[in-house]
Amino acid sequence: MSSKDAAFWQAKADALQARGQAFIHGRRADAADGRTFPTINPATGRVLAEVARCGAAEVELAARSARQAFNNGDWAGLPPRERKAVLLRLASLMEEHADELALLDCLDMGKPISDASQIDVPGSVAVLRWYAEAIDKLYEQVAPTGQDALALITREPVGVVAAVVPWNFPLDMAVWKLAPALAAGNSVILKPAEQSPLSALRLAELATAAGLPDGVFNVLPGYGEEVGAALGRHPDIDCLTFTGSTEVGKHFLRYAGESNMKQVWLECGGKSANLVFADCGDLELAAQRAAFGIFFNQGQVCSANSRLLVERAILPRFLDKLLSAAAAWQPGNPLHPDSRAGCLVDARQTERVLRYIETGKAEGGRLLCGGERLQLDGGDCYIPPTIFSEMRPDMTIVREEIFGPVLCVLPFDSEEEAIAMANDSQYGLAASVWSDDVNRIHRVARALRAGTVSVNTVDALDPAVPFGGMKQSGFGRDLSLHALDKFTQLKTTWIQLRR
Ligand code: NAD
Repeated sequence: MSSKDAAFWQAKADALQARGQAFIHGRRADAADGRTFPTINPATGRVLAEVARCGAAEVELAARSARQAFNNGDWAGLPPRERKAVLLRLASLMEEHADELALLDCLDMGKPISDASQIDVPGSVAVLRWYAEAIDKLYEQVAPTGQDALALITREPVGVVAAVVPWNFPLDMAVWKLAPALAAGNSVILKPAEQSPLSALRLAELATAAGLPDGVFNVLPGYGEEVGAALGRHPDIDCLTFTGSTEVGKHFLRYAGESNMKQVWLECGGKSANLVFADCGDLELAAQRAAFGIFFNQGQVCSANSRLLVERAILPRFLDKLLSAAAAWQPGNPLHPDSRAGCLVDARQTERVLRYIETGKAEGGRLLCGGERLQLDGGDCYIPPTIFSEMRPDMTIVREEIFGPVLCVLPFDSEEEAIAMANDSQYGLAASVWSDDVNRIHRVARALRAGTVSVNTVDALDPAVPFGGMKQSGFGRDLSLHALDKFTQLKTTWIQLRR
């Protein structure tokens, strides 16, 4: 038996003392008016911590602190290799506290401890290390203007960056923003989702321990309409990077337009299509990955492959394989290392997903499995893998993002029809294609309007490749060197030379 069995994690969970204070100017702080809100473990319904309910007053403090830190150059003015050293120290501290960070996300949003400890925490550390290692290897440019001038093109940090993130990968989403923004020399104010603020607050303490100067990284927990909107409208924040729903992404565009025209970068919702052609050489693997593509993280993944398009000739065979693959994603106690799926983030999200399931039934979808709420150890935020077949492109649950473990299967008869169906969405975050025909692969990948097209896999992801959407899935890219475009701005310095 592994030393980290269910008893190990339960004992750690019982001993955990989560702290919910905000983090401003290098120290923990209550909200100025003392208000708090509870953060709740969705698996048990128990309150994990009372969390500072930040608002405009704390945004003002954090913005002032972040600006001061930026202006005095304690971070932005360091040689890149010195910023790198601090970020690498933070990565090591995260590894030292990996169990604690994993536990915080598992308890706060119900994801399986095995995912939190084997995917989320190591993934976050890898992203942080990647940007730390990258930042002292980037060269700037001299423009080809001719002999009488020297035109330098340099990259400067934007200044104060606010990052507003969702709850589905609390630590990962924070680090995806934080790592490139800090590496580039910015000061950052992070607003974690109200459902899952704990790992971000712990991260801020670790960052200070790693040597990040005061004010360079602030964390303001609270509600979107309060602290999120105040960040969006603040006149002295230069850049707002957001991951969350398309609806809220549009609010941020408005906030910027109504305040200081800060740069806004949006990573929003998705309804990704997974296309399985009859010439796919490994239908077994395709079915396994199709199940992963929708049931991982209880379907609460922006790029979840929630629309499965299968060539009609192989549909019955493929559905058999898919149903067996789906059975492995039965939810269990999130603290048990064998649980591949946990619970949904909260009662509200569970109700929302259940309403979509009812809509799917009412509109004539054929339910192949799942579809009902489960009770487990007294918790009721559990929904098993749910698959609808015989779906049509105009059905509500085929069009709208559910953000839960619900898969819609649609048959197609031709490549053209598959492409048209896949692109028939307001979203364009990701897509997958299964085929052994290299010509088809290129044709279809080019025709799909999605930020990432994974071929013969799903949800391909690496710190080195850009991630982000087309259409109403947003704009700007996370990960890779391209993310630095969001957190730096180009400056031209033209030096006229005397003859
Ligand atoms: P959400 O949009 O409700 O919330 C995201 C963040 O915005 C939270 O911190 C929230 O407090 C804040 N917020 C909410 N209302 C606000 C307002 N009026 N003003 C300012 N801030 C506000 O999203 P969610 O429910 O936390 O997460 C699920 C959504 O996130 C899904 O649509 C999913 O597709 C998307 N998502 C996208 C990506 C991506 O990279 N494209 C990744 C993960 C999640």
